[in-house]
Amino acid sequence: MAYISYKKIDEVGRVVLPKDIRKEMDLHINDMLKIDIDNGKIIITKADKSCIFCGKTSSLKSYLGKTVCESCIKELNNS
Ligand SMILES: [Zn+2]
Repeated sequence: MAYISYKKIDEVGRVVLPKDIRKEMDLHINDMLKIDIDNGKIIITKADKSCIFCGKTSSLKSYLGKTVCESCIKELNNS
């Protein structure tokens, strides 16, 4: 489904994603978005979960409520 929506940028640079788009894209509070520029367009993509320390997207675990990979958990436990 195609959505066209016009939004103003506020004084600190924020833009609200319309509710219909958030619903369609299954976006929720605290989801991570990746923002790129491509040929004069701003591309917003739902980011995969990744380790908060190294950015790795595999072997992820929840550690004290944060997404962390197994090797960073090992490193944390050894320090
Ligand atoms: Zn990691």
